[in-house]
Amino acid sequence: MKSSTVGLATTGLVVIAGITYVIYYDYQRRKNPTYRREKKKEKKREVKQAAKTIKHDTLSTIQAVLDQVAQDNYPTLTEEKEAYFMNQVSQGESLVAKGEIHYHDSVLPFYRALKVYPKPLDLIMMYQKTIPDDIFQMIISIMSLEQKKIQNGFYEHFPPKSTYVRLAELPSLESKDDDNKESLRRGLVADKNIKSGEIIYSEYPLISAMHPSLEGYYCHFCMRRIEAGDINKTACSNCDDVVFCGTECEKQGLKQYHQFMCTNNKFNAAENGQEFQDYCGTHHLKYPQMVSRFLSSMVAEEMDSKNPDQEQQHYSSWDHMDRMRYFESLPTENTAQEIGLIKRVLNNKVPGIDKFLTDDIYLMLKGKLAYNCYPVPGSHSASEGLCDKTAADEQYRQLPSTENKVTIGTALYRISTYIGQSMDDPNIKIVFMGNNKLSVVATRDIQMGEEITTNYILPN
Ligand SMILES: [Zn+2]
Ligand SMILES: [Zn+2]
Repeated sequence: MKSSTVGLATTGLVVIAGITYVIYYDYQRRKNPTYRREKKKEKKREVKQAAKTIKHDTLSTIQAVLDQVAQDNYPTLTEEKEAYFMNQVSQGESLVAKGEIHYHDSVLPFYRALKVYPKPLDLIMMYQKTIPDDIFQMIISIMSLEQKKIQNGFYEHFPPKSTYVRLAELPSLESKDDDNKESLRRGLVADKNIKSGEIIYSEYPLISAMHPSLEGYYCHFCMRRIEAGDINKTACSNCDDVVFCGTECEKQGLKQYHQFMCTNNKFNAAENGQEFQDYCGTHHLKYPQMVSRFLSSMVAEEMDSKNPDQEQQHYSSWDHMDRMRYFESLPTENTAQEIGLIKRVLNNKVPGIDKFLTDDIYLMLKGKLAYNCYPVPGSHSASEGLCDKTAADEQYRQLPSTENKVTIGTALYRISTYIGQSMDDPNIKIVFMGNNKLSVVATRDIQMGEEITTNYILPN
């Protein structure tokens, strides 16, 4: 297996959320060099010259709008947003009505309307049908440039300042690439001087799953041990498959993924989820569950971002996953079956899943889990006879600090996935305190700028 950092299929995010970015890609396609070359051949030389001039104007309009919207302050109250939206759209429309010479001026109001509209992609589709193509193309370009700017800012905003770590560009530990260029990797470094014994940061997983046979003995969401007489424990109200340590975990777990994956077997005959659950149980699998939870969480985030009361979240689960390194894994005899089962579970609730979850994407996600997951330790003893068997091909990073504890599942973390590997001179240890919340504790003094490393063993 070979590790890779290829960023793939950001496009998928949009498809899975049931939103059609198709128009956008249609435009990209039409903008592509071959298409344009062919088109241009048909035109006369003078026309080409004219097109160049227009192209120049287009770029300056796009830049001007980008600069302007970066300085804009947009209304936050719903009624104000509505009024602002109506005002901008009608400004745009009246400019269009005045004729082609005013087209460029209409881009700013149309784009401003987009900035306050709760479902921007719906509005984009509306624009495509109603406003002239030249204007529409400029709007699409501005949108994608703004998106690129946000993506480039990822490492400035993540990890949050409160963690005392940042993601720096460090020289790669692997051999130089084919072009003999020194390649870079993102590594976690201390953002201040840290004392031995200090907790540098703690974080909850992006996604986690425990061994299917341990459901009921540990919280389905945070993986805390649930004792038989625990008065705080709650069961899902629609199925008898999962138990939570309390109402907060139930709420979070439902919102993040269980609402999409619940078998609803309390009142009806079990839905498709039962088949999936049985399959994972029989084969002792966590990763297909983690993949489907991850896909569910993307939809949950998308739903949340449409909630006007919710503060806009810049970086999604996909943004994190997309940047993680992975093993290139090959399909097995079960791959097609697993994909089929996930699709059947999520089909009615996750629009676009059928198109999105290709073999490549599924294998990539599994490769990311194998490369980045840490084991979560539990507290039951061997004498309790709980089965925590792991499928042989579900590998993860082994941690010496959890070696003599039972492993109850695996979890994927946004920050800790970037912890460096050092067998001889690690400077932190990874600690769990009774659930899947991971803490990073300094095992010696660490200087600001020093890479954070521990002695995990990558699967081979
Ligand atoms: Zn819990
Ligand atoms: Zn349920």
